[in-house]
Amino acid sequence: MTNQTNILYIEDNRDNQRLVQRVLGARGYHVHIAEDGTSGITLAQELQPALVLVDINIPGLNGYETTTRLRSMPHLAHVPIVAITADTMSSSRDRALVAGCDGYLHKPIDARQLPIQIAEFLGGRREVVSAPEEKDLLRAYNQELVERLERQVRDLSAANAELAELDRLKGQFLSTLSHELRTPLTALLGYLELFENGALGAVQPQQAEALAVMRRSSLVLSQQLNNLLYFQELRSHQLMRRSINMHETLQPLLAEMRHRATQARLLLHVRLGQMAPLHADPRAMEQAVRGLLDNAIKFSEAGGRIQFTMADTPAGALLRVEDTGIGIPEGALEKIFLPFYQVDDTLARPYPGSGLGLAIVRHIVDAHGGQISVRSELGRGSVFTVLLPRQVG
Ligand code: ADP
Repeated sequence: MTNQTNILYIEDNRDNQRLVQRVLGARGYHVHIAEDGTSGITLAQELQPALVLVDINIPGLNGYETTTRLRSMPHLAHVPIVAITADTMSSSRDRALVAGCDGYLHKPIDARQLPIQIAEFLGGRREVVSAPEEKDLLRAYNQELVERLERQVRDLSAANAELAELDRLKGQFLSTLSHELRTPLTALLGYLELFENGALGAVQPQQAEALAVMRRSSLVLSQQLNNLLYFQELRSHQLMRRSINMHETLQPLLAEMRHRATQARLLLHVRLGQMAPLHADPRAMEQAVRGLLDNAIKFSEAGGRIQFTMADTPAGALLRVEDTGIGIPEGALEKIFLPFYQVDDTLARPYPGSGLGLAIVRHIVDAHGGQISVRSELGRGSVFTVLLPRQVG
């Protein structure tokens, strides 16, 4: 930081920005520019400006409102705030003063006068409104603020309703699309299976290989559609929680995952500890563990090892999936739980997926009042831990 005097100038017009920077810069002031009211308020929080210049006609919060907000900051209580405007009506001057300004300059900015005026304000010049008028002016200003607030609330509510409707339509579209795509896919998978188990006659080894690839791709597609459908469903439906035995709930899934791990030449080690019944939605629990195990399998190279642990701990029911896969860069650890986020989304990305798996897992864990955390090291593997609070079911 230099020991130059900081001046904050809130103005969206480039020509004025340049002019003020040039004129005041030449006098040794350090002029910081904010393009609108909200960024001016943010900048004022970081800076210790000796003076604030604010244009009245700025986007978003106008100059009066920005001034009122700046005035409420303790470190700006005695800092001169000077309004600049092209408006020549005397009521504008009074409005600026009741909003909290200490002075009022007219546009166009007079390059010769400006440094003199700034020096005066820095030296203590303060303009005030006459006391009898102040009350009426304040009331009028308040009235205007409330009216503007009311308009904003109405606009925002309308925009919100519109967004909610769009979101609903998008959800409906996604569901319809997923359903429509799933029907032909089911037929496709069925026939591929018939080929695979020889029910449609013998196939050559090369054909069998091609059929296996087709089946794997169709399964990935089917899984992605399921994720899309489930994601939509989760957003709009309540969970069906009841007292469940987690070992029983997850048994079919774990059998399926063992099979998939073996096919991918991975070792899946399952460690199931004692577990009291859990108050949870069984389908959601299955989906959450499926999401974590899916990823562990998908992001591991052949020869890797995956461990699934489930047990009661003093902190709650613990579910943990550890893998020795490719790992996740530190900067991505927070983002992987966002819908549609994938660490590497280039077209060459070798791992298929929709980026919805972990968003679904987190949604389910949150809905059960639990927590999910991840530790990972690039090239070494990842550990996903879910803790679900115990509840009397
Ligand atoms: P996707 O459908 O892409 O698997 P997810 O939401 O399940 O979507 O995961 C988001 C991203 O987080 C993945 O694309 C991947 O980059 C990363 N990721 C998730 N789990 C793992 C894991 N076990 N090992 C490495 N990367 C992972």
